[in-house]
This record gives sequence, C-alpha cells and structure tokens, in this order.
Amino acid sequence: MDLSYHLPPTFSRKPSNPILDGYTNHLMKEKLMGAKSSTANAASTETKKNKKISDVVTARDLEDRSRSLVQKTGKSLTCLLGEAMKLNPDRHEMEWCSNLITLWNSYIRCTKNPGHFNFIPVYQFGLGHLPASCRDRRMVAYIRALSRFTVRILTRHTSIHRPSYFPCGNMRGTDKLRLATGFAWIPGKITDMPCPIENCPYNRRSHRVYGHIRIMTNKHVVYDQFEAAQTRAQFFYDNANNSRGLPVVQCISLDYSIMDSDMAYLNCITHDSNLCAILQEEMEELKTTYNSIPLDIWQSCEDLSVVISHPHGMAKTVSVGSHHSFDVTPTRAHAHYYSSATCPGSSGAPVFYVSRREKGAHPMWIPAIHSFHCNILQMNCGFK
Ligand SMILES: [Zn+2]
Ligand SMILES: [Zn+2]
Repeated sequence: MDLSYHLPPTFSRKPSNPILDGYTNHLMKEKLMGAKSSTANAASTETKKNKKISDVVTARDLEDRSRSLVQKTGKSLTCLLGEAMKLNPDRHEMEWCSNLITLWNSYIRCTKNPGHFNFIPVYQFGLGHLPASCRDRRMVAYIRALSRFTVRILTRHTSIHRPSYFPCGNMRGTDKLRLATGFAWIPGKITDMPCPIENCPYNRRSHRVYGHIRIMTNKHVVYDQFEAAQTRAQFFYDNANNSRGLPVVQCISLDYSIMDSDMAYLNCITHDSNLCAILQEEMEELKTTYNSIPLDIWQSCEDLSVVISHPHGMAKTVSVGSHHSFDVTPTRAHAHYYSSATCPGSSGAPVFYVSRREKGAHPMWIPAIHSFHCNILQMNCGFK
C-alpha cells in the first residue's frame, strides 16, 4: 500500500480551462438566485436544528433531502450542486477581518452555527465525538495526528486579476486580511536554500531557509502568484489561548491551481529547521497510526466524514458528520458532499471520509478539500 503524501495521478497538473469555467455562466446565476430566496427560510430552520453533537445529520437525512429537491426541481443532484458552486460565490467560506482581535466578534455573532456546538476543539477530541460504530482509540489518535498538518491560512492581498464574478472579485487590489484553512505535507527531501524573500523581515542579511512544504487549499483562497506571495500558513494553532510564537511558513509560489475543482497548491518555505524535522517525524507517526487501524474498523465507519478546520480563523476544531456521495466533474476531479459542520474560515479545510462508493481509495487518507456550503441542500462540497 502506497501511503506517501505525494500527489496521486488524479492530482496531475492541469491548466484551468476557460471553456469549462462555469463561473462565467451568468444566465444560470439568475436561476440560482430564485432558488436561493425560496429556500432561505428552510435553510435557517435547518441551521438552528444543528446545535448539538447528537444532532449530526446522517447520510440517510441527506439522501432524503436531496431526493425531495431533485423531485421538486426536476434537476439532477449534480446539476443542483454545480449551480450552487459555480453561481453563488457568497457560499464560499473565507473569514475576513481588519485585525486578528476582531475574529472573536465573528465567532460569537456567527449565524450559520450559533454556539459552534458541532465544532470540537482538537485538543478535546475523543472517543465520544465519534459515531458509536467506530469508537476506537486508534481512530482518535489518527484524527489528532491528521490535525497536526491542518494549517491556518492568512493572506493579505486580493489580486487585481480575480474575475469580477469570482469570490472576492469586488475586493480586487485591496489588502484586507482574510483567513481560511489548508492541509500541509512534505513532498520530498528537505533541503536548505538561500532565502528567496525580498527584504525578508526575519533577517536583512543573506540567510538560508528550509523546504519545501506543500499546502493544499482553495483557488478562491489563493487565486494567483501575487496572492501566493502574500500568504502565510500557521501550524499548531490548537488552543485559542496559545496563538503566539507558533511556527509560520511563508508561501513563495503558487505551484498550480484548477478552476473547476477550486484547488490551489502552494509551495512554502520556513526559517525554522526544527519545523521540518518535526513534520517529517509526525508524518512517519501518521503512517504508523494509520496502518494500526484494522480493516473492520474502517468497515464499521462507513460514510464517516471528518473536517478539520479553523472556523472564523480561530483555533483548530474537528467536526464529524456523514459522507453523502460524490460526482465526477468535467475535469475528472471528484466533488464530495458531506454534512460535517463548517463555517467562514473553513474554506480549504481537509475533509477525511470513508466511502463505499469510491472504489480503490484508501479510507480517510488523501482528503478532499472543502470548497463551499450549498444553502439549497444544506450540504457541504469539497473536491479531490
Ligand atoms: Zn460560525
Ligand atoms: Zn528570509
């Protein structure tokens, strides 16, 4: 079994294709706006229901809900979600702030998940948060190990090259801080190199840095090279009372991105050689923990989905729900649908899932990347 975190063949480099870029379909946008207003009240009611961990929406709930909507609208599920993704950029889940102190306000005043009862601080995550059928200490250890590679993304620049219809299109050329989530790994051997950052704030003299660290997030979080150069990622922000002095990596380039599946791959470096050593060691532990979970546990965790994210740019949390289904997009990426709770700040979060429908995939190994929340179906969508 190949357990490396190298990109699998389905992640191969693909240029974005303007013909397949559904964000340009303005006619369909009008249709969606109609659907959005008619479902807004139902969506609000559903959100209020989602207040307790015990109220996690099941795969069956989602199936019933989607079946009734498909019958009502006469459209396929793929079509409904495709419209929602492409034509309703407001549903993307980034957090904005003028400074980091104001994040508490967004968190406290959240209307999507008031109280955030379905978001478990990662350091408190335990057996009781998993469905009864897959309560196993090795699963808890594995999810905690995965959380070590989940990072808080901070980016200051919004590129003038963002299309006006794309998320943040109205913020082009501004420098307001936005926050999201990403998933990191080390793709190869760590090397040191001269620091490539112009006027580097760490050291004015010539100095060395270490890398590369690769990070997956959304294209709507980091659109192009200009935004990548203004993006940092913070590791190990697990506790709200402990955000200072944590390791931060600087992104130096956008390796590549895909419009259709809303994916962006960033190359990052660090000035801290210890961070690379820690991550390499933890990657080995991750593989060991994964291999320690027997097949019957995975089988009993059918349809589990776990999102690890930084809601509202705050400390890292785990949310548990059900994996509903997946579709193949025009560029042969997989769009996954799931119920695990997300909030603004969760864009780019890794979504680990168990799916009996996706043949050949290792359960909960390579994540989908959370992209948007669909108000029509009250469901989340991520891509892989
Ligand atoms: Zn929230
Ligand atoms: Zn430097």
